[in-house]
Amino acid sequence: QYAGPAFQKTEALKSKHIPPAVYNIYKNPLLLHQGHKQWLFDHEGRRYLDLFGGIVTVSVGHCHPKVVGALQEQINSLWHCTNIYRHPKIYEYIEQLVQKFPGDLKVVYLVNSGTEANDLATLLAKAYTGNLDVVSLQSSYHGYSSALMGLTATQSYRMKLPVPPGFYHTMLPDPFRGIWGGCRDSVSQVPGACSCPGDCVTADKYVHQLSELLENSIPKGRLAALFAESIQGVNGTVQFPKGYLKKAQQLVKKYGGLYVADEVQTGFGRTGDKFWGFENHDVIPDIVTMAKGIGNGFPMAAVVTTKEIAAAHASTTYFNTFGGNPMASAVGKAVLDVIEEEGLQNNCKVVGKYFIEQLMQLQKVYPIVGDVRGKGLMLGIEFVEPGTKVPLPIPDMNVIHEDMKDMGVLIGRGGRWNNVLRIKPPMCINKEDVDFTVSVLDQAIKNYLHTKK
Ligand code: PMP
Repeated sequence: QYAGPAFQKTEALKSKHIPPAVYNIYKNPLLLHQGHKQWLFDHEGRRYLDLFGGIVTVSVGHCHPKVVGALQEQINSLWHCTNIYRHPKIYEYIEQLVQKFPGDLKVVYLVNSGTEANDLATLLAKAYTGNLDVVSLQSSYHGYSSALMGLTATQSYRMKLPVPPGFYHTMLPDPFRGIWGGCRDSVSQVPGACSCPGDCVTADKYVHQLSELLENSIPKGRLAALFAESIQGVNGTVQFPKGYLKKAQQLVKKYGGLYVADEVQTGFGRTGDKFWGFENHDVIPDIVTMAKGIGNGFPMAAVVTTKEIAAAHASTTYFNTFGGNPMASAVGKAVLDVIEEEGLQNNCKVVGKYFIEQLMQLQKVYPIVGDVRGKGLMLGIEFVEPGTKVPLPIPDMNVIHEDMKDMGVLIGRGGRWNNVLRIKPPMCINKEDVDFTVSVLDQAIKNYLHTKK
């Protein structure tokens, strides 16, 4: 499988021309050839269930015919004109996108990647508030650029270079590993997961820690924004205690800052109950950034904010060569249509609930499964040394992860110790796919435990 000439050719090219920082997720990597719905096919026609969706990017299914059709139609008429001209597709798309947002979130910047969206959001927050300092959560990932290497807090994506000035990180309100623990947030789909009658009591402690940072570390009157996902993605699906985001937003506002919701992973219906992850927390952000699933794999992204905040930017010209090109707009519109027509948000809710329940059954059997969490089709399974919270070592995780691939399931990895399996599939998976995954995971754990005997 991994020794054929086609594979060897790519290996030789990779070692010569691809930078060493670009890693392979598998020891024996895949050479992919084709995608269809929730399935991927390798160069020899072997089929895999794709539970990672190109890292939460393939939202409505690989090569969805409606999205492919919309793109093909647009490719045949006009690829590009830049936003200094008008094209009807761009306006049709924006009109449809803003309907998905509450409150005054009605102004849209179309850009090309999540990094670019968060970079622009940083700029907007600074321009609007006139302040320079930005806070994000520990272990967060918000993009990879020299400017964002401070906003992104997770170590593995930060080079040994001085962090750009003006970025601070507040304690991660992590119910599994945080020092105060905490219930799963309001958003849990597991009945009884949060036993607090109102907001989770630990939320106040984490918010207090944020207030210490704002009061003691950041010079007075300098706060521009707090960035947060509504469930941390790259860090292994970390949910926050109920009430945290709401109280954090209120606090940040008191200090003159905006709240920016990074919906790059949690948006577009993936969490099931709501279209946007932040809506599960009963908050309305000042700025929302989105990418990945917005285009089902087509490179596009967006920043949505209020007219008032966007006005702070109006003293200069905003230009973006590719942002909101007609192809991206045609794709984005088709993606919104498919989510609606195929009830994919509800599918995330129903299948996601079934998924987590099945995983919790597995957790009862295997003490190495330390935590199962998430919402909708954004799930995480954290592996530990039995009876402890010590992360299962990476080489051991690699065995389980690779074995699942060899049995036909591509699942994600993440977390600070890379000991979390991440499930963020195309939103069209069904209960049979869940059953298949759970049986493959069960077998992979058995195989791994056998090697330990
Ligand atoms: N924000 C979050 C939450 C992400 O997960 C990512 C990508 N993993 C980004 C921003 C950056 O997106 P991109 O890779 O499109 O620049």
